[in-house]
Amino acid sequence: MNRGLKQFVPASRSLLRNQTCRTSACLVSLKSLPKASNAAAVQKRFLTQSVARPISFKGIFGAKNEEPEKKLVLEQDNLFHMLSQSPLPEMKDRAAIVNKYGVCPVCDTHHEEHEAKKKPTYDCPDCGYPTHCSEEHYHEGYQAHHAENCAILREINEDDHDLRSGRPMREFEFPSAQGFDEAVNMANWDVFFYTRSFPSMDSDRSMRHVSKLLTYPMSIAAVLHQSSPYKYGEQVTAEGMRSIAALRTILYPHNQVSNDAQTQIRTDTINVYLVGARAEATLPSHIWLQLAYLFPATPFHIHFIGPDALAPNQEPHTKSVNERLLFTYDNAMYHDYHETIEKFDPYTDLFFLFSPGIGHGDAREGWKTSIEKALETKCPIFVTGYDEADMKNDVEAVEQDYNGEFDWVLKPTVNEFRSLKRDVNLMDLRQSIFANYGIWGIRGKRYDVTHDPESNE
Ligand SMILES: [Zn+2]
Ligand SMILES: [Zn+2]
Ligand SMILES: [Zn+2]
Repeated sequence: MNRGLKQFVPASRSLLRNQTCRTSACLVSLKSLPKASNAAAVQKRFLTQSVARPISFKGIFGAKNEEPEKKLVLEQDNLFHMLSQSPLPEMKDRAAIVNKYGVCPVCDTHHEEHEAKKKPTYDCPDCGYPTHCSEEHYHEGYQAHHAENCAILREINEDDHDLRSGRPMREFEFPSAQGFDEAVNMANWDVFFYTRSFPSMDSDRSMRHVSKLLTYPMSIAAVLHQSSPYKYGEQVTAEGMRSIAALRTILYPHNQVSNDAQTQIRTDTINVYLVGARAEATLPSHIWLQLAYLFPATPFHIHFIGPDALAPNQEPHTKSVNERLLFTYDNAMYHDYHETIEKFDPYTDLFFLFSPGIGHGDAREGWKTSIEKALETKCPIFVTGYDEADMKNDVEAVEQDYNGEFDWVLKPTVNEFRSLKRDVNLMDLRQSIFANYGIWGIRGKRYDVTHDPESNE
């Protein structure tokens, strides 16, 4: 089903670096797209890559903060609309994007030449998306569309109208700090929401909305937490257990001290380096606070590093959310930022790369210096991918390019804390992904290996 997605994904990160618009509205607004002479090609790549590696989540919360008494636009029984006739301009824009850049799946199978493929302008009455070029092709492709995509698109249609309906989003009212003895279980989203007492997580739709944002901090927490879904001997290797155990000696100090000292404990700071940070750098701080709450004794310093970690008008900066959560934003390339850090310590430091596309075409070379620097630290490096093929592609690139330089920490596995909301590729509605679908981890080898160039050919 993801056939074809790959060919767009290498769209270089430098391309995105030059975008001036970082709001999520920009993904669905034609007006804000670049007007270069090769605009069509640029837009096409931008739109497609934005699905796999969203650049911003600001739109989701921005409106709410600006108008606290936002009025209800859509009732709960009125969430399904033809995108082209949606009362929400953003959704209408989305239809216009599909009209302009999408592909009719029937034309796509009939014709070899791109010129002969017509744009989808016929709206499917069941999902509300413009899916085919004509009523004739709609009927011709009806079975394939309804067997594979229509229900998915209908769900996305209703979810997106719900998110912008103006109803109070109670599922985004998260629990605050947890007690030292509160037992949270991180086996999966359901158990996590339940044991952490999330108040209004009572529908699949709420789970989809919330998981799309919480997938970033919770993918990290799931690796660190003592009730991690990833087990030693299953997904976690022996070397991986050493790395994770080192971090847990900091995160769980009560295993080492007497009970009455617990309330005063403040451990060393855990540094999380988010290399190539994009959308995760735009998440509101209360989303990241959920990570800190899970480890009540430990301060976290999250480093959002990479060309897309800041809006173009922003300077690198550090800000403190509270005494246990610190953010640094820097748009330097990681290998340059690396040189500014005094020391790395496998007990307190780890790396996270969200859908980096290490193995994708021209990105592969660009990642090399950064990956090498991260491997040198001997701190664990965790990586996510948006589907099976994306993950496989990155893993293969790492196995080829850093052969003999790393140990496995976490074998590639489905991420229990992936986004449950699908993101659809507007360039080809047959393709959709889940952010952080899979996860894996490696670490630089801890001893110096004698390098023998001959045996390494
Ligand atoms: Zn057609
Ligand atoms: Zn035809
Ligand atoms: Zn449909």
